[in-house]
Amino acid sequence: MQLMDQEQIIIKGARENNLKNVSLQIPKKKITVFTGVSGSGKSSIVFDTIATEAQRQLFEGFSMFIRNFLPRYAHPDADSIENLSMAIVVDQKRLGGGSHSTLGTITDISPVMRLLFSRVGKPFVGYSNAFSFNDPQGMCPECNGIGRKMGVIADDFVDPSKSLNEGAIQVPFFATWEKEMYKNTGFFDNDKKISDYTEEELDLLLHSKPRKFKLQIGGSTMNATYLGIIEKFTQSYIKRDIKTLSERTQKIVAPFIKMAPCPLCKGARLNQSVLGCKIHGYNIAQLSAMEVGDLIDFLQTIHEPVAAPMVQTLTERLGHLVDIGLDYLTLNRETDTLSGGESQRVKMVKHLSSSLVDVMYIFDEPSVGLHPRDVYRLNGLLQKLRDKGNTVIVVEHDPEVIKVADHIIDVGPHAGSHGGQIMYQGNLSGLLSASTLTGKFMKQSLPLKTNYRTFTGKLAIRNAKINNLKNVSVEIPTGVLTVVTGVAGSGKSSLINQVFLTQHPDAIVINQAAVGTSTRSNPATYTGIMDQLRKAFAKANKVSESLFSFNSKGACENCQGLGVIYTDLAFLDGVKTPCEICGGKRFKEEVLAYKLEGKSISDVLEMTIEQALEQMKLKEVQHTLQTMSDVGLDYLTLGQPLSTLSGGECQRIKLASELHKKGSIYVMDEPTTGLHMSDVGHLLALMNRLVEGGNTVIVIEHNLDIIKNADWIIDLGPDGGKNGGEIIFEGTPEQILHSPTSLTGKYLKESIH
Ligand code: ADP
Ligand code: ADP
Ligand code: ZN
Ligand code: ZN
Repeated sequence: MQLMDQEQIIIKGARENNLKNVSLQIPKKKITVFTGVSGSGKSSIVFDTIATEAQRQLFEGFSMFIRNFLPRYAHPDADSIENLSMAIVVDQKRLGGGSHSTLGTITDISPVMRLLFSRVGKPFVGYSNAFSFNDPQGMCPECNGIGRKMGVIADDFVDPSKSLNEGAIQVPFFATWEKEMYKNTGFFDNDKKISDYTEEELDLLLHSKPRKFKLQIGGSTMNATYLGIIEKFTQSYIKRDIKTLSERTQKIVAPFIKMAPCPLCKGARLNQSVLGCKIHGYNIAQLSAMEVGDLIDFLQTIHEPVAAPMVQTLTERLGHLVDIGLDYLTLNRETDTLSGGESQRVKMVKHLSSSLVDVMYIFDEPSVGLHPRDVYRLNGLLQKLRDKGNTVIVVEHDPEVIKVADHIIDVGPHAGSHGGQIMYQGNLSGLLSASTLTGKFMKQSLPLKTNYRTFTGKLAIRNAKINNLKNVSVEIPTGVLTVVTGVAGSGKSSLINQVFLTQHPDAIVINQAAVGTSTRSNPATYTGIMDQLRKAFAKANKVSESLFSFNSKGACENCQGLGVIYTDLAFLDGVKTPCEICGGKRFKEEVLAYKLEGKSISDVLEMTIEQALEQMKLKEVQHTLQTMSDVGLDYLTLGQPLSTLSGGECQRIKLASELHKKGSIYVMDEPTTGLHMSDVGHLLALMNRLVEGGNTVIVIEHNLDIIKNADWIIDLGPDGGKNGGEIIFEGTPEQILHSPTSLTGKYLKESIH
């Protein structure tokens, strides 16, 4: 492609992470796909070089005064990066936001719905804000706009066989002094068993509203406010949005709370006068509970001229949701219940409605969670963004997405230190004749399995009705590899994650959720290698083990063993800068002087799994290192923070640490995420190894190579949302090819011919 210089982004001499001084050009206002095996360096180019530099340049545009409040973004390690536009990263981070954030609010569709109701709703209620459950004028007074009322399960709060003096109050989250307080009120006979209380006494103990009393403590008297036990609990935990409590508190409190729809608004969140306001017989809550596809149809029945601009805007925005395969969602869906892939597509819709042009949109594997049927819709959206005059940069492995790219950059040849080079840049036909891994795998796929394993037994799911499931009963075979398929929204996660897993809590779940809760976790700490290293270092140097912990006296005091300093920013992503004292080595000088096999603890943590496997003689860590290598993570360094791992890498590190179990049920959710076509075969080999080892493996997948190699397929559908939730097919890969109704069968067949 011959382009004028300003029509492309030009990167020269990039060296972030594993990049080997690479130079590349990205055409502007085109779709460029970055591909290559996991760990080859795609993110190092796209996120750590391009997006980081764009962010830095944005900050540079601010005045000196404002810049004083911002962290200094280090230049990415590159000789030059030219012609960048503003970058918007659309990733798979889940959308948080508590109960008040819904699909409607986050896509800015709800304000338009409210405007519509304030213009044509009958009877007229007030300004458009009155239709918002986040507004005091609109919210249901009973549940404060949350739509749910929480009740307390108080059975275990008091032990009726005991008196107050015998410790009848057992509320686990009351401090001892709080329990003591109930004895010092003067209201109760402290030696009377609770079972002997009169109704009034019991009511006072449990349900009393606030009342003033004189608290007697050690001879002195104070004015205090008394609250019944359940009332106290309610005020502390229930009258607040539970999602705003810390995760730890939520966990402690959850078993004592039962959720039910609000008795007044029945979950609609709005007050009765707002709910009385209707358009063609429907109120705003009813429309928000309609699936997006149906809502569009309904809007077309509104012909009042004053409504026309609102109907047009709504139809367009809702249309984007349909285009991206989210027509099965409802506007009242709380955003924190959306999957990673759904979250990314919702963010995409937000940007489609924006009028920004000449922006760089950067996507991280947008095909995640999409059935082959829906990938063409995604492609359409990427093209739409491009045609509005934006530069679209996509990290992707799906061959169908690679096929619509104007420009492809193939990074490789392998991972970590064996990668970091540009193997190919150019158009599709060039890629297909290139001898790179991607070029090769674009033309070939795994054969369809025909020799299926025999079941050792069956696990039954009976009458599942959660979400869209239509009274589903199905048996999952044991001792084999079962793949659960179906378009997005058909009910796969509802069936497996919300029904099956609650009936089989002993199953081992290997998902993409982040691993490690502390910023100090890394592959060494997660897999237990760090414990072995600490022991070995201590023994070799005759010092205490604890010196080699990140959170001990041995750790660098400036960064507390993190090696970097994190700065939180109110309105932007936080940033980290290397620690100036230890230079990222994380330990004090004196600790670094202790050696094992000639290396300091910091040297060891800087090794990749592959290097450690080759160089370290320490027997205790060999097996774990080998397993990490087997799951394709040999390019990770032992000390790389787990927070830098992608969802797919997190999933594989979990797989590695669970591989040795026997006779278990494994459940995986789209394990091919982040995997290049050439690595799918390795993943499959691992899954087969688990099955051969006597385990049952259940996988939710869209990847056709995995589906082809199942022993058994359970296909849900026919479509998403209320048009899904049924079992369309159960059987082998050969049989699904002949299913007249299965979309999965149809696409599988096309991929073979
Ligand atoms: P890809 O996106 O192709 O999967 P990455 O760019 O994420 O590959 O990784 C390329 C190499 O750089 C890998 O060896 C990876 O472990 C390493 N790497 C990535 N991010 C970091 C980081 N924050 N710190 C240290 N090493 C990293
Ligand atoms: P899949 O896993 O096949 O993509 P899901 O099981 O996630 O499908 O979704 C099936 C249906 O249930 C969809 O209509 C979806 O919107 C709905 N659904 C899923 N999870 C929730 C939830 N937490 N709250 C409300 N509806 C949900
Ligand atoms: Zn209510
Ligand atoms: Zn430090």
